[in-house]
Amino acid sequence: MVGHAGAVSTQELLAEIDAAVAFLVGQPGLLDVVLAEHVADAGGMCAACPGPQSGRRRWPCTVRLIAARAVRVRAAAHDRADRPTSAEPENAS
Ligand SMILES: [Zn+2]
Repeated sequence: MVGHAGAVSTQELLAEIDAAVAFLVGQPGLLDVVLAEHVADAGGMCAACPGPQSGRRRWPCTVRLIAARAVRVRAAAHDRADRPTSAEPENAS
């Protein structure tokens, strides 16, 4: 596992997270599955993330954090859609 370590910059990582968030927002069904599966087990570890070999199974895991962010983004978008802007006339042609 030498060679790849440190190759990913923080910026690249953030871009990947943004992409993952956008993807989940566009897949509400998948987002719900992720939220349902990536929960803490009795030991406070993620129940869905793969084994402890990488030592990164602590909960909330990265996937869960991304999903939580997607929920916020989705809620914000939903909130906007819920509030009809009366100033905008309907497209009746
Ligand atoms: Zn997880």
